[in-house]
Amino acid sequence: MATEYDVVVIGAGNAGLTAAATLARKGARVIMLERHNIPGGCATSFCRGRFEFEVSLHQLSGMGTPEFPGPLQGLLQGLGVRDKLEFVRMEDLYRVMVPGRLDLVLPADKGGVIGALQGRFPAERENIGRFFDLVYRFFSEVISAFYMKDPEVTPEKYPLYFKYAFRDAQSVLDAHFTDPLLKLAVGIYWCYMGLPPRLLAFGDLAAILFAYIELKPCHIKGGSQTLSNAIVDSFIGNGGHVRFNCGAEKIIVRDGAVRGVVTEHGDQITTRYVLSNASPITTFLELIGRDDCPAVALDELKGASYSTSFFTIFAGLRCEPEAVGIAEATNFICAQTDFDRDFALTRTLDCDESAFIMSCYDVSDPGFSPPGACQCAIVAMKYAEPWLQVPPERYAAEKYRCAEAILRRVEAHFPGFREQIEEIEIATPLTHLRYLAQPGGSPYGFEQHVKDSSFFRSPKPPLKGLYCAGAWYGQPGYQPTLASGVAAARAILREMKAQEVKP
Ligand SMILES: Cc1cc2nc3c(=O)[nH]c(=O)nc-3n(C[C@H](O)[C@H](O)[C@H](O)COP(=O)(O)OP(=O)(O)OC[C@H]3O[C@@H](n4cnc5c(N)ncnc54)[C@H](O)[C@@H]3O)c2cc1C
Repeated sequence: MATEYDVVVIGAGNAGLTAAATLARKGARVIMLERHNIPGGCATSFCRGRFEFEVSLHQLSGMGTPEFPGPLQGLLQGLGVRDKLEFVRMEDLYRVMVPGRLDLVLPADKGGVIGALQGRFPAERENIGRFFDLVYRFFSEVISAFYMKDPEVTPEKYPLYFKYAFRDAQSVLDAHFTDPLLKLAVGIYWCYMGLPPRLLAFGDLAAILFAYIELKPCHIKGGSQTLSNAIVDSFIGNGGHVRFNCGAEKIIVRDGAVRGVVTEHGDQITTRYVLSNASPITTFLELIGRDDCPAVALDELKGASYSTSFFTIFAGLRCEPEAVGIAEATNFICAQTDFDRDFALTRTLDCDESAFIMSCYDVSDPGFSPPGACQCAIVAMKYAEPWLQVPPERYAAEKYRCAEAILRRVEAHFPGFREQIEEIEIATPLTHLRYLAQPGGSPYGFEQHVKDSSFFRSPKPPLKGLYCAGAWYGQPGYQPTLASGVAAARAILREMKAQEVKP
């Protein structure tokens, strides 16, 4: 294997994969280093017994419909993998439940969402209409101003954007709705951003609602590993090299520019471009090191805090979903309606009261598990800190105690669930930390405060030849991270062209 490449990609998560594949398709000589033994980062699967468990993908955004194709269609086509994948559209956004108080299904359709909410909350009929009118008008301004790249973005032209983009989502929910159950039903997607509406920009909540309603949530046939494998195949097919079980240990910097990478096995690779899909904490503090790291990168790290991780139960059931009353692919189960209380619980080990999400892949894709079986991922947002405080000798007991608390609550909603469990695996934030090497085991990267968003981050790489992509450098989730890899690869290609480095 060569020891000189145009680009070294560190990490084969969504962003690393799309970056590597984009570069290879344009003829660049690329090597991708991945410390794990499979590609995908979060977008992977693992096997227990006869089940292949999906690690992360609950709802894919961005695919769209034949009439209204979403941005992921073009992205996957551009990588030559669109036709190798099959997508399963979900009919509903989610079912949201608070025991004894709320049990509501929202269809993935604007009229359907509004109708379902108005049917359950008739006293707030007009408020519901007004709220979704705002979401749609706000988002059409976002599309014109940013996606269509209007050169003249002014408050006069885009009044809703300027008024609402950075406003906190809780104040907008409070201004529109009275019933806390209604606020819960509309705002529950905050879980996909890891910050409660009080700390989340309305623009982010509006973007998720708009994207999932208009572009429809999807699953990938075969799960997210199929997507990761397809992108790796495309990369290799275009001449790319990949090494698994091979972490990057050092990025060599000389005279303020990237010169190479040293692997954990001690191999040195010469390159002028590194694209890091590892977190900035890993990239700047561990791989580059403080001495070679530009002050601006260290300063940006000082003000940021990492986001929540997850406590996850992967359960393989020896029955079909309907046998235990599972009728929806995505179920949000809450003990109460206070988002801030739920967020406070993410910093504790508590699982008696924490909100959780239960996804059952087989509802949307009946062939996902072996015949007559199904699988569920039950996920509660949890920060790593309380888990880091658990003494190693108590870790297993604590993990089972938390799983027990969640399973009791699952059983209350889906009687017979426990009896049908054939395989079970439990992951804590420390599991994510170990397998994904994400600081804090955080698949969402930094907390998604507006102040840490791309609006306020330096758009230029702080070191010549260094590019970064993934959840830590923008927004979390499949669609944004897949797109960020492509964008970073294009930036490298542009610089190569400017420098006349022949890809
Ligand atoms: C349980 C769960 C549920 C989720 N549900 C959804 C969902 O429904 N919809 C959605 O859109 N998103 C979801 N997400 C979020 C989404 O999966 C992530 O935001 C996204 O996959 C992150 O991609 P990334 O490119 O940032 O890289 P990551 O997935 O973080 O991958 C980074 C890669 O870099 C590698 N790496 C790190 N350091 C090194 C090194 N030194 N050398 C070599 N390799 C290294 C890691 O091993 C890893 O493979 C979920 C995540 C989880 C965990």
